[in-house]
Amino acid sequence: MCGIIGYIGSENAVPIIVEGLKKLEYRGYDSAGIAIYGKDGFDIVKQKGRLAALDQKLKENPRSATMGIGHTRWATHGEPSDINSHPHVGSKSKIAVVHNGIIENYKQLKERLEQKGAKFASQTDSEVVAQLAEYYYRGDLLETVIRVSNALEGSYALGIMSLDDPDVLIAIKKDNPLIIGIAANGNFIASDVPAVLKHTNQIYYLEDKEITVLKKDSVAFFSIDKEPISKMPETITWSADSAEKGGYPHFMLKEIMEQPKVVRDTINSAVNGANKAIIDEINIIAYDKIVITACGSAYNAGVVAKYVFERLCRFSSIEVELASEFRYKDAVIDDKTFVILISQSGETADTIAAMREAKSKGASTLAIVNVVGSTLAKEADFCIYTQAGPEIAVATTKAFSTQLILLYLLAIRFASKMGKLANADQNELLMEIEALPEKIASIFLHVDDIQKYASVCVGYKSIFFIGRNIDYAIALEGSLKLKEISYIHSEAYAGGELKHGTISLLEENTLVVALANCERLYLKSMSNIEQVVSRKANVLLISSQEETQADKRLKFIKLPEGNELFSPSLSVIILQLFSYYVAANKGLDIDKPRNLAKSVTVE
Ligand code: GLU
Repeated sequence: MCGIIGYIGSENAVPIIVEGLKKLEYRGYDSAGIAIYGKDGFDIVKQKGRLAALDQKLKENPRSATMGIGHTRWATHGEPSDINSHPHVGSKSKIAVVHNGIIENYKQLKERLEQKGAKFASQTDSEVVAQLAEYYYRGDLLETVIRVSNALEGSYALGIMSLDDPDVLIAIKKDNPLIIGIAANGNFIASDVPAVLKHTNQIYYLEDKEITVLKKDSVAFFSIDKEPISKMPETITWSADSAEKGGYPHFMLKEIMEQPKVVRDTINSAVNGANKAIIDEINIIAYDKIVITACGSAYNAGVVAKYVFERLCRFSSIEVELASEFRYKDAVIDDKTFVILISQSGETADTIAAMREAKSKGASTLAIVNVVGSTLAKEADFCIYTQAGPEIAVATTKAFSTQLILLYLLAIRFASKMGKLANADQNELLMEIEALPEKIASIFLHVDDIQKYASVCVGYKSIFFIGRNIDYAIALEGSLKLKEISYIHSEAYAGGELKHGTISLLEENTLVVALANCERLYLKSMSNIEQVVSRKANVLLISSQEETQADKRLKFIKLPEGNELFSPSLSVIILQLFSYYVAANKGLDIDKPRNLAKSVTVE
């Protein structure tokens, strides 16, 4: 997820683009760059690091132009570096491009272009767009963009300028957002409304494969068949601040709502995209032990994974360890151990230390991270990336969900390599996973119901989460999410443990969130619920099974049906929304809960 912007008009494009990028920094912040027309060709300034570094560079050496494109990057292909920053140009420096998305067939296109003499400068997938555009260009930029788009697979929002067309800015999108703003001082393209809100509230939303041709004082739209399209602008009434959050009151809610898309992107990356090759490379049969280690929610993803790995791989030794414990326990591991490390930022101090400890004992390491080029990503033997994009809210939601996806897909791949999974079963499981984004989206239809229920839960002093097996694993995450942002005391227990102590805490003013998605254990979970209700505690039951028990103390939320192994991806959405709305009803600072930090880079 990157932020792109373009401007063509009567004012100096440079400060307009930089100001716009500041509003898009929430979409990516590992590097930034702009391209304008210079004296002899494009003048491109790119800088690794936060946008402030680019801003400083531009202030030291001010320049001026009436058209330009800019980008703030969240790397997916090629580490964050000056050279990998956008804009990118082709070998002849004739066409400059900013790109948000992933070009899935970039390797094939790159090979073909190299055979034709193109010289690639970066490791990004995006550069192939500029190279291809130069290869196709015969004097008609619109025609070129159409040909490029027809050759690309994947997702893209593109801003494109050509040296031979100094009065035209072109943009196209597929599966990534792009808006067009029209103002008195010129016209804009941008990934999101806040980038242009200072100049205009008249916005066109580009649909997939629609192209816009912007001039200083005109805007035109075309279909991919070069047919003119007529579109109406919409008037934006949001404030600049709420626009940045896509109209949501908090980043956390926005990030919860992004999950169908980022889960889909992550599935694609592991089934057809860049992660696939890495997963295929791992020779899991060379190991006799798997250790999953992480902190916080990433650890909870590991607990879910342990159940999935055990069930599918039937591996005799799979452990899941808190990284802060693993690093100091003098673990019994060697070169036959495969260690999986999970961290959104890739900079979690304890997880990095765990990785170094594992490597020093000869183990092989695989990092699952969200931030490209982070320490874990660089130092682990293997690395696969979640495609969550930048997560701003401290409490993780979309990064957690995408970690689960990669862990499921690893388990399936490993199981099949180990001969534990027939092809037909593998395909069936993959189909189940591919159906998850739609099922997650269907849960959002019931947000009002969850919101209403959460609003009556703000008064609880304690909320317990129970579940058996994989439901217990996801109960851990539900409990962590709730206490992180609502400050309500909360604990998660395996359903069967209730009678060994916790039950003494249950009384009239407690709530138990019960998860019951394991078919084999459904009746056992129901017995737990009866025990809870008879202690006068209230129950929120989340289950894919139909619930017929009518009890005034019981509130039931039905999950979409499917293989129970992947049910955590669905129940966690309810748990996130529940926690979010409890905290929202308490009026708390949800995106920045007290005492917590997004990435824990200290011990
Ligand atoms: N794939 C491009 C890159 O890595 C764009 C990234 C994005 O939009 O997330 O540079």
